[in-house]
Amino acid sequence: MISIWSISAAQTFLHFRRKGGFSIEREPIKATEYGDRIEPVADGVYHIDDAHAQSFYLIEGGERALVIDTGMEARALIPLLCTLTEKPFVLALTHAHPDHMYHADEFETVYLGRADIAAWKGTLRLVTDVLVGMRKLPKKKFLVETYVPVTGRTNIDLGGNVIEALEAPGHTPGSMMYVDHQHRCIFTGDAVGSGMFVLMALPGCLKLSDYRDSLARLLKKLEPIADYRMYGGHLNQERGAGERGEDYYNPVTIEVVRDLYTLCDKLLKKELLPQGKGFLSAKYGKAEIQLRRDQLR
Ligand SMILES: [Zn+2]
Repeated sequence: MISIWSISAAQTFLHFRRKGGFSIEREPIKATEYGDRIEPVADGVYHIDDAHAQSFYLIEGGERALVIDTGMEARALIPLLCTLTEKPFVLALTHAHPDHMYHADEFETVYLGRADIAAWKGTLRLVTDVLVGMRKLPKKKFLVETYVPVTGRTNIDLGGNVIEALEAPGHTPGSMMYVDHQHRCIFTGDAVGSGMFVLMALPGCLKLSDYRDSLARLLKKLEPIADYRMYGGHLNQERGAGERGEDYYNPVTIEVVRDLYTLCDKLLKKELLPQGKGFLSAKYGKAEIQLRRDQLR
């Protein structure tokens, strides 16, 4: 196995894990030699940020461990995950952008929204190739046709904990959220942003009226679980990612999703006009969106 940890950090962490009965709140954030930061957020649930602040998550179930997204780095991912659990991994992707799926080739079982599988050969593969090229990382061949298609009826049974999928198309056609009822968490990817803005300006993002209707359907699913903690695909954006001052704090909540719906609706009705030239942006309440002019329909 590749050595990911500095030895002492690994030993401290494993000691913590194996002792049992530890208080999860007191377990510290660990850093790897590659700049990953691992934060336990509930018993058997981890939030991991890679060196480029791309967030992904691990939920350890009775029989399997679910990895939600992968980040995108030059190192392999599996050795890092093996320091957290001995359970076999399955991977569920929130959507098919490379900063969320770059390490999918390290997994045997990969879940991906059905509409992202369908859109892969059109726009999504192109976006992936461009973004991987911009980061100067090795190009990979993603066997998307072999992935398990996810819809709003998909449940992923980890053994004692069943993870529910929610459809949230917009940022990509097949964007999904994953709900962990046991730990009262929702993993939201980029579907509603991560606390700064939702990016709708990339090729393959839906037009605004489709996104608004998607948010309306999503809100119906979210209302009964409105008190769950939402974890986005770039969690440092909750605090503005170093760009919005020290006091900035706008975690993704159902309020953000409600405001996003209203923002889309007002833009479509021209009650609100977006600012900017190339990429447009608009704000309402806790929500902000970036999009292209041709999506205003
Ligand atoms: Zn994305």
